[in-house]
Amino acid sequence: MNSTTQVLVVGGGPAGSTTATLLAREGFDVTLIEKEVFPRYHIGESLLPSCLEILDLIGAREKVEAYGFQRKDGGYFAWGNESWELDFTKLRHPYSFQVVRAEFDQLLLEHAKSQGVKVYEGTEIRGLTFDGERPCSAIWAQGPGDTNTGEISFDTLVDASGRAGIMGMRYLKNRHYHDAFQNVAIWGYWQGAGRMSFAPDGAIAVGSVPDGWFWGIPLHNDTMSVGLVLHKTTFKEKRQQGKSLEQIYYEAMDECPLILDLLKNATFVPGQMKVEQDYSYMSDEISGPG
Ligand SMILES: Cc1cc2nc3c(=O)[nH]c(=O)nc-3n(C[C@H](O)[C@H](O)[C@H](O)COP(=O)(O)OP(=O)(O)OC[C@H]3O[C@@H](n4cnc5c(N)ncnc54)[C@H](O)[C@@H]3O)c2cc1C
Repeated sequence: MNSTTQVLVVGGGPAGSTTATLLAREGFDVTLIEKEVFPRYHIGESLLPSCLEILDLIGAREKVEAYGFQRKDGGYFAWGNESWELDFTKLRHPYSFQVVRAEFDQLLLEHAKSQGVKVYEGTEIRGLTFDGERPCSAIWAQGPGDTNTGEISFDTLVDASGRAGIMGMRYLKNRHYHDAFQNVAIWGYWQGAGRMSFAPDGAIAVGSVPDGWFWGIPLHNDTMSVGLVLHKTTFKEKRQQGKSLEQIYYEAMDECPLILDLLKNATFVPGQMKVEQDYSYMSDEISGPG
């Protein structure tokens, strides 16, 4: 790996690959370091129409359009006794995509490479060194048992490490969790789910339940991502009652006619039920020297 770069981007998710591509297209020397080897699993599949403008800016729109992701023309909400649809086709950017993130993120990372970004996958940033408040170099490690390690210095750091949040969590310690968004999500994938003929094409289905709400996201590989979101306190209470993730998920689903109907002929894709918490947060400061 090079020992110096103008811009170091940590993380090759959408934030990292987008920033790196934009800067490389402006003529900067950009190095991106990603811990995992892509494709890697990630949640966050239902994109908003505003992403089209970003895809245009980085010159990746044609590649994304050609890939065959599920086009998303809007959303359908069944909330308590009310239901309504959200129709993107009336907006300035009239659609979006439902994406299998492993494939979408890989496409964007490959695009970054094609625009001149030097990308190192399977390489983890272990720590940063500072000149006063300014980060100026990063220690990296790669390979089983850290067979290869080194240091790279930079003028500017872009921390796009997502929830790991190297700068925010380890150095600035400025990440805060809002009381209203202390949610837990439990989700999995279903094969052969139905489609909502009454909603915009490829819409996300959102259905409320007494303890929270469900999402249903149709994906291009004939699976549907189906997740339950509930407050952390409710989740903890249910766990203390001895309920498994599966029990919490299926009991809630019994109270969601929209999702039950979509899944009536579907089968759960074998594999562990997935769960995440503490994924909504804010940082006081998002830029600083370096
Ligand atoms: C349950 C749930 C549902 C969601 N649903 C949606 C949705 O429907 N639509 C939507 O738009 N968003 C959704 N999101 C949010 C979405 O997942 C995130 O906003 C998005 O992934 C953020 O992208 P990112 O590039 O910032 O981070 P990430 O995609 O997380 O990328 C960060 C990258 O940094 C790498 N990394 C971390 N530490 C290091 C290190 N030390 N060295 C090198 N690399 C490192 C990681 O391996 C990772 O690849 C959801 C989130 C959750 C938790």
